[in-house]
Amino acid sequence: MFDDPVVKDFKNIDLDLQRVSEMNDEEIIEVLQNLSVHQTELEMQNEQLRLTQEDLKISQQRAYQIFYNAPTGYVTLDDQGIVKQCNRKFTELVDIQDVDVIGHAFIEFLSQSDRVTYNVWKRSSSVDKVQTFQFHTSNVKALFLSISMSELVVDKAEKVTLVTCSDVSELKASEEALKISSIVFENANEAAMVVNSNFEIISINPAFTKITGYTKEEIINQNPSLLSSGQHDSAFYRDLYNALNKKGCWEGEIWNRRKDGQIYPEWLSINVITDLYDNPYQYVCVFKDNTQYKTDQYIIHKQATHDALTDLPNRVLFNDRLEQAILHSIRNTNEMAVLFIDLDGFKDVNDTLGHHSGDLLLKEVALRLKNSIRETDTVARLGGDEFAIILLDIKAQEDIKRTLFNILEIVKHPFVLSDDRAYVTASIGVTLYPHDGDSSQELLMNADQAMYSAKRMGKNCFKFFTEQMQASASVKHQISNDLRSGDTSDFYLNYQPIVDILSGQIVKAEALLRWKHPKGETIGPDVFIPIAEENGYILELGDFVFDQVTNDLASWHKRYGINIQIGVNTSPMQFKINAKSAQRWIQKLLDLNLSGANLVIEITEGLLLESTHVVDEVLLAFRDFGLEVALDDFGTGYSSLAYLRKFDIDYLKIDKSFVSLLESDPDSLVLCEAIILMAHKLGMKVIAEGVETAFQREQLISVECDYGQGYLFSYPLPKDQFEQLLLNESTPFSPIQA
Ligand code: C2E
Ligand code: CA
Ligand code: CA
Repeated sequence: MFDDPVVKDFKNIDLDLQRVSEMNDEEIIEVLQNLSVHQTELEMQNEQLRLTQEDLKISQQRAYQIFYNAPTGYVTLDDQGIVKQCNRKFTELVDIQDVDVIGHAFIEFLSQSDRVTYNVWKRSSSVDKVQTFQFHTSNVKALFLSISMSELVVDKAEKVTLVTCSDVSELKASEEALKISSIVFENANEAAMVVNSNFEIISINPAFTKITGYTKEEIINQNPSLLSSGQHDSAFYRDLYNALNKKGCWEGEIWNRRKDGQIYPEWLSINVITDLYDNPYQYVCVFKDNTQYKTDQYIIHKQATHDALTDLPNRVLFNDRLEQAILHSIRNTNEMAVLFIDLDGFKDVNDTLGHHSGDLLLKEVALRLKNSIRETDTVARLGGDEFAIILLDIKAQEDIKRTLFNILEIVKHPFVLSDDRAYVTASIGVTLYPHDGDSSQELLMNADQAMYSAKRMGKNCFKFFTEQMQASASVKHQISNDLRSGDTSDFYLNYQPIVDILSGQIVKAEALLRWKHPKGETIGPDVFIPIAEENGYILELGDFVFDQVTNDLASWHKRYGINIQIGVNTSPMQFKINAKSAQRWIQKLLDLNLSGANLVIEITEGLLLESTHVVDEVLLAFRDFGLEVALDDFGTGYSSLAYLRKFDIDYLKIDKSFVSLLESDPDSLVLCEAIILMAHKLGMKVIAEGVETAFQREQLISVECDYGQGYLFSYPLPKDQFEQLLLNESTPFSPIQA
């Protein structure tokens, strides 16, 4: 300031003032004039200064505006690294207000992990000091700033560093993504191949080599057609390229050839990468070997549609084939036949020779059946010992019959199973399309019905479905519904006396169930019991019979002092499912003050054959409580001595079919005698069922039968009539042997 020329002049003026007193007027005037000129100059210079300062201020403000509003983040730091200033962009980037930035160490804004690197980098004297660091941010996305530093010389004493920060987060993210995709590309299980627009392979991954056998060296620059198997026609490839052109992608199964020549299926997806002008630039092909998948699919499909034991189609596939066969018959206006085959005696093979032998037999049956039909026909295993066959394009009934006789014959043939020989036969039911049903379900159901009829006809035969079977099937259906919707009050018991065959004295009786159908008619147990067994209602009925019998026994005892033994029929199902009911029955006897000797449980051989742990347990519980057991209908079933011994049976009831034969067939007396002898040897008493004539009675007496039951002695009677009969008996009743 002291260098200013105007001020210098003032100094001069000041010095000259010494002389002012000695000056004359003129000189004074001159000095004053000079002074005035100086003053004007001074004023002008002042104005200049003010303008310059104003300019400076404006340009300073402008510079600050540029600094503050710059699209790049700026921070100035003092020599301690403390933020002196920051611009808006920087506060936006780190998402912190400038008041929280200024005065803080710059390093605080960096992520913890990058701070050491930052310190090292800051001290290093590399020329182009640009480096990317991760910064803190409250945003979810990571913030990466590329920063550079430059020294600003503001004044000699103060060192200011300008930090320039550009956001490179996006770049960093895409770099990361690229890195990841290259790792994926290299390590993927799927093979990948990139093809350029000249159809040259430009890149592959290791999975590609693993699947195709071609290494990078062998395949790069080759045309992808090197891989083609020749399995697809030109139309296939045309469709593929059309899809690529139109949609930019294609996906599907394609058969290719490996380096070793093996052809294999692959699941391929191709994506087109286009250039700026939308022209195909690269094709990215990703594929996986479908061989295992196809094998798995095949196995899964096979398991779902085939029987594991015999490898025949199962019920699911059979139904499918049957639907197809119906369509085929409609198209060709041809007839076809459905055969429902059930083996007779298979259970015996299973029971006596074991399941393994049973399985071998089923396998052999499957083979024989398969060999007995044409390629176009289907044989399936529906389950257990049930098979079914579809015979297509039947010309004449004779054709079917020939096949049927053939099947009966081949099944009858002995089966050699390791060390054993086994024999079974077949019962076959037949339905014809379109005559016997128009749906697959109906055809199979009716064939099943016809098969049952073949069983009833004595097995080892076939039966064609008839209208009558249809009618009885619908009656059965009706009864089943009526049983389920009715209640036990429609049921009542008849009692049929069992007499000492010699004296004719009533010694016990059998309870026989009757159903007073809501429509008025009385239906016999032969009709409704098998249906109740099928639909499960038998459990309720069984309990009803037991309650009824025990109540009657208690009331006879109380009112008349009569203590008689009553036989109660049971179905196998009652033993298998309801083990608890045994306990309930025993409790009921206790509650009514009855003893076990009041009841005989009549069981069938089937129960003993199918005996399970539960069955044994129930029978034992009954025995422990003193109940007796009778084996019903003896001679019609398996009649195994071994079972009789095992199960501790008290009575054998000879089936009425044997008794009725006594009239006409002398052999049957021999049979009855043998049975009675055997029973007595095993400590059992014998009751002959269905004794209708005096002759039969005499015959039975002659072979030492113990008891008789039948119309000769009494019909099954309603409860009150039976009561009267008991009261009229000359000799009072006493408990039958304790
Ligand atoms: P079942 O146990 O063999 O009963 C004897 C059957 O022979 C009875 O037929 C009886 O009426 C009949 N009958 C008796 N004497 C003669 C005769 O001299 N000649 C002829 N031809 N038949 C005679 P019902 O009452 O029709 O019973 C049929 C079958 O129904 C019974 O055969 C039994 O297996 C079953 N059943 C009856 N009631 C029940 C029951 O409460 N529960 C179970 N699960 N089954 C029962
Ligand atoms: Ca019976
Ligand atoms: Ca019987």
